[in-house]
Amino acid sequence: MYSITIVGGGTAGWMTAVLLNQTYNKFDRLVSIQVVESPDVDIVGVGEATVPAIKDFLQVVGIDEADFIKHTNATLKTGIIFKNWCVPNEDGSLHSYMHPFDQERVEKRLDVATSWLLSSRAQGYDESVSLSFSLAKDNLTPKPFNSKPYQGLVGYSFHLDARLFGQYLRDYATSKGVSRIEAHVEKVNARDGKITSLVTDGYEIRSELFIDCTGFQGLLISELESDSNWQSYQDVLLCDKAVTIQRPHKPGYTPKSYTVSHALNAGWSWRIDLQNRTGHGYVYSSKYLEPDAAESEFRAHLGLDESDRFNHIDMRVGRRKQQWIGNCVAIGLSSGFIEPLESTGLHLIYLAARFVALHYNFEQNNDVVIGNYNKTMCKTYDELKDFIVLHYVLSDRTDSDFWCDVSKTLDGCSTLKSRLAVWKHKVCEYFDVSDSTSHMFSDVSYRYILYGMKYYPELAVPFKPGEFDEVFDYLDNRKAQVCSHVMSHKAYLQDISGKSGFVSIDMSKGK
Ligand SMILES: Cc1cc2nc3c(=O)[nH]c(=O)nc-3n(C[C@H](O)[C@H](O)[C@H](O)COP(=O)(O)OP(=O)(O)OC[C@H]3O[C@@H](n4cnc5c(N)ncnc54)[C@H](O)[C@@H]3O)c2cc1C
Repeated sequence: MYSITIVGGGTAGWMTAVLLNQTYNKFDRLVSIQVVESPDVDIVGVGEATVPAIKDFLQVVGIDEADFIKHTNATLKTGIIFKNWCVPNEDGSLHSYMHPFDQERVEKRLDVATSWLLSSRAQGYDESVSLSFSLAKDNLTPKPFNSKPYQGLVGYSFHLDARLFGQYLRDYATSKGVSRIEAHVEKVNARDGKITSLVTDGYEIRSELFIDCTGFQGLLISELESDSNWQSYQDVLLCDKAVTIQRPHKPGYTPKSYTVSHALNAGWSWRIDLQNRTGHGYVYSSKYLEPDAAESEFRAHLGLDESDRFNHIDMRVGRRKQQWIGNCVAIGLSSGFIEPLESTGLHLIYLAARFVALHYNFEQNNDVVIGNYNKTMCKTYDELKDFIVLHYVLSDRTDSDFWCDVSKTLDGCSTLKSRLAVWKHKVCEYFDVSDSTSHMFSDVSYRYILYGMKYYPELAVPFKPGEFDEVFDYLDNRKAQVCSHVMSHKAYLQDISGKSGFVSIDMSKGK
């Protein structure tokens, strides 16, 4: 029997195991898949916000939505609300905009963005065109009563407990035949550019294929790569550390159906509501802020006192140039890392596991196949990196060294720089970004960031005053209709609990 060994029992290891097992062993056990996880090395324990493609992953592997929500304390996510990323508004209020998950769709006009730009509406682009914005404002879900699993009137994803998700996937995988080996890999044996075996305190493990899910260290792949295999993003993505804390909800609190990203002095903080607690993290640049100072700033931002303990995380920002070498593929943090501003880590894991399933040939993997995998993954990483940089470089904040310097990072992103030059004169549209490999963030997402961050094209287009009224009347009607047909986040979570016999569990350990 062919064999695949995955080292690492974090989200990457178990997501990959579940997906490959579903691919090869759904009808018969054709491939032996084992996950080796160390009892001595903890998982990173973050990674709690997702993008809508997580639903594809869960459906593809056959996981029931209600069961998943129950066991991971998950909540629904309609998008991200960004606060304080630009200077305050003229009336002194905090600058704020949303990157929602829905597509703007207007049958009556060619292009809703142009309509909005020319109409001079008082409401922002997000509020004017997005259904998810209206849902988030009232803490609603995109799901009508009795909606089918994984379906909503607009796109959505989940917030989930990273530890519970890992445990849930592990139980799911092992119930379907994946073996779990609890052991620490002490030595990686390699010859002629391939891994021959792994040595643990009791086993020597041989396999056709090894998947490296050992986190930032990349224990397996580093045995095969040259020194020049690392492509750093540190010159354009300045944040390289995070400080995190989890807080239980106060009684009666209803979790929010969106993530909040609040810009601080040298980076930004996340706020992610689960059913039982909120996860907070401050992603910052150590060039501008010492860890102690970051903790103090974050403590003050959250209104916490000295007794609250924080967790500090180092982040290696960049990607491996070759993520598949010989018979080893790095997936998850071992393949690279882009800061979690748009919650892309788990999606990259899903993509990589899927690409492995689509590329891997059990008899022979030639350079063409491996090269194609590496090219696709690297391009995906680079595009994502540009999308994250976009959020920063449009800021007009100059109130700290970090924010003064951040605009210069655009010089390191030539594609983004030329796109922005074009978008100064025309709306951003599908064809402007259609050469992207990932399609994770299309022109729709770009528009929400551009116009949310006040980067508008200079349009000189003749139009009749009032001609856009019908566009926004239509959208306002549609929003009102949708909001009156969907469940509130509170009602939905209660409904799911009833259906699945939810009992409030908090197995999160923190660190
Ligand atoms: C601050 C921060 C915030 C993030 N937020 C998000 C987010 O909101 N959304 C998102 O999608 N992603 C996010 N991510 C990314 C996400 O956390 C990771 O992609 C995800 O958790 C996968 O991690 P991993 O499994 O690759 O690594 P880890 O969780 O570090 O797991 C590594 C595994 O390898 C094992 N291991 C290590 N050494 C050995 C050895 N010698 N022998 C055997 N086993 C070994 C460990 O025991 C562990 O099981 C975030 C990351 C960071 C750093």
